[in-house]
Amino acid sequence: MRIDPPKVTIDLSRVRKNALDIAARVGVPVIAVIKANAYGLGAKEVVRAIADVVSGFYCFTLREAIEADTAASGKPAICLVGDDDETVEAYKSHNVRPAVWDAERAARLRGARPVLCVDTGMQRFACPPELIDNVLRAGECDEAFTHATTIEQVEQFKYLMSGRSLRLHAAATLLLDQPAAYLDAVRPGLALYDGAVRVEARLIEARDTRGPIGYHRLTPATARHGVIIGGYSNGLRPGPCLVNGERRRIIECGMQSSFVELGPRDAPGDSVTLLTEALPLRDIATEWGCSAQQVLVSFCRRNRCEFLP
Ligand SMILES: *Cc1c(COP(=O)(O)O)cnc(C)c1O
Repeated sequence: MRIDPPKVTIDLSRVRKNALDIAARVGVPVIAVIKANAYGLGAKEVVRAIADVVSGFYCFTLREAIEADTAASGKPAICLVGDDDETVEAYKSHNVRPAVWDAERAARLRGARPVLCVDTGMQRFACPPELIDNVLRAGECDEAFTHATTIEQVEQFKYLMSGRSLRLHAAATLLLDQPAAYLDAVRPGLALYDGAVRVEARLIEARDTRGPIGYHRLTPATARHGVIIGGYSNGLRPGPCLVNGERRRIIECGMQSSFVELGPRDAPGDSVTLLTEALPLRDIATEWGCSAQQVLVSFCRRNRCEFLP
């Protein structure tokens, strides 16, 4: 038996095309979100693929920016949180600007050109509206952003920041279809990676179903079922898949194998597609009951990834 674990293929030219499409559509600079190793795809590779298309990068920590080597791209990065021993020199030497939301830290990191993060409802890692003036003054900030999911939050942000001539950004993927949210830049993560990841597993068994199957005694919707290599330890969960181009279902996941519904001609050795353009992230996320970002991270972080240039 050939035990091939699920294969994850990352198409960097698709990430690049996504970045170009977003830039053309929004008409303002794009700050690429590459936190969590670019949602699992590989931050270093993503940075190299899109550095000339985007205006900068956004990470969760300084360490992420260093590991992705954003400095080598010549583009600046913003990082959200810092370590206890963070220094102006560390930020400057890596061309990273810290996000700030309290006056004490903004003053301490003033030399690193901090960026104000404003709270418009997220209520974490952000400055409450009444302290904006204090933090701006302390950090001498020339840029501000908010982590918003609704257009109302963007409107509030615009109102709070009006008349200050700062560079402003708010829109992540969710607001890319709302031109009123674009401001001076957009800050997408997911939209860069959508369609760029393909996950395939190998069918190793196929049989006629005789009564309920698996741990939970489930009844497949088809007369036959099979087993693939790849289970919850590979980030897989019950939900949709494609077997020889047909929409089927992963019925139940074990640790390293899963049950899948099969049609009459599906046979061992056939490929079962767990993520591809024709089986979009959003469909899988809906059935898994999680976000599209979580689906990406689940597959990419738990399997060996291969890059297409
Ligand atoms: C993660 C993140 C984004 C990107 O979110 P997507 O929905 O994946 O586009 C944008 N801004 C901030 C502050 C984030 O933390």
